[in-house]
Amino acid sequence: MQNMIEAKNLRYAYPVPERAEGEETKPLKYALDGVTLSVKQGEFVAVLGHNGSGKSTFAKHINVLLRAQEGSLFVVGLDAESEDNIWDIRSHAGMVFQNPDNQIVSTIVEEDVAFGPENLGVPQKEIVERVYEALGAVNMRGFEKRAPHMLSGGQKQRIAIAGVLAMHPDVIVFDEPTAMLDPQGRGEVMDTIRFLNKEQGKTVVLITHYMEEASEADRVFVMTDGKITDEGTPREVFSHKEKLDAAGLLPPLATQVYHELKEKGIDIGDCPVTLEELVDGLCR
Ligand code: ADP
Ligand code: MG
Repeated sequence: MQNMIEAKNLRYAYPVPERAEGEETKPLKYALDGVTLSVKQGEFVAVLGHNGSGKSTFAKHINVLLRAQEGSLFVVGLDAESEDNIWDIRSHAGMVFQNPDNQIVSTIVEEDVAFGPENLGVPQKEIVERVYEALGAVNMRGFEKRAPHMLSGGQKQRIAIAGVLAMHPDVIVFDEPTAMLDPQGRGEVMDTIRFLNKEQGKTVVLITHYMEEASEADRVFVMTDGKITDEGTPREVFSHKEKLDAAGLLPPLATQVYHELKEKGIDIGDCPVTLEELVDGLCR
């Protein structure tokens, strides 16, 4: 199976700002400090990490908004280093950001969703079909003529996702897509992400700091100071208490209870990720 994303030893440091008179030069700090990871076609991976650990910087490399200073990156089999591949990569690997307001470009939903494919030069008749399809996939049919700014946060974010879908990407990178949403909106967006991965076969990279969201992924990567410090299934990663502590992360509630019980000498078996699993373990 083809790797949709293949990063080897990626390093990136933001340019150091000019220093003022008398100020000390700050040492160069790598926002990405040797990131190696691969994501297979159809996979759903989550990237967890404390604020400032480099998650967004990594996401921007996948979309070639930033270029690696060291290492190599292939996205959908295309070398991100080559200037010629930038637009191809961007059309195959879509990005959804935290704030839907920054991604919505039109005052009418259907025009907003059509914006991406229009830029790709897709014929008008096909654009209409793509908009219809994309709005269906995010469960927003019937909102075609509405004004995006009048919608709820969760609805707006789903319109932003539809806009990405209309470009027919293979990979979608979600950079904390639920961070600004209320619990209902968060649920709607997670339902959409799940649907896109399971039913439409999209490869998903979900950057989040909600453990419950990460627990739905096939694999989880933990980032600390620009490095991948752990990876595995959600259950594996959540059971590594020391590594999570070092990354400044708390596992899901069920896993926290498990770790607390373990410290008190009570072993309930396999590390639970959900409350149901915790209750099962306690009942046994
Ligand atoms: P995360 O998304 O995990 O919160 P970021 O990738 O945004 O982390 O940031 C990683 C590091 O790079 C942090 O130290 C942050 O301060 C720094 N950084 C991020 N964006 C910029 C920028 N535009 N200019 C300079 N430094 C930046
Ligand atoms: Mg970020």
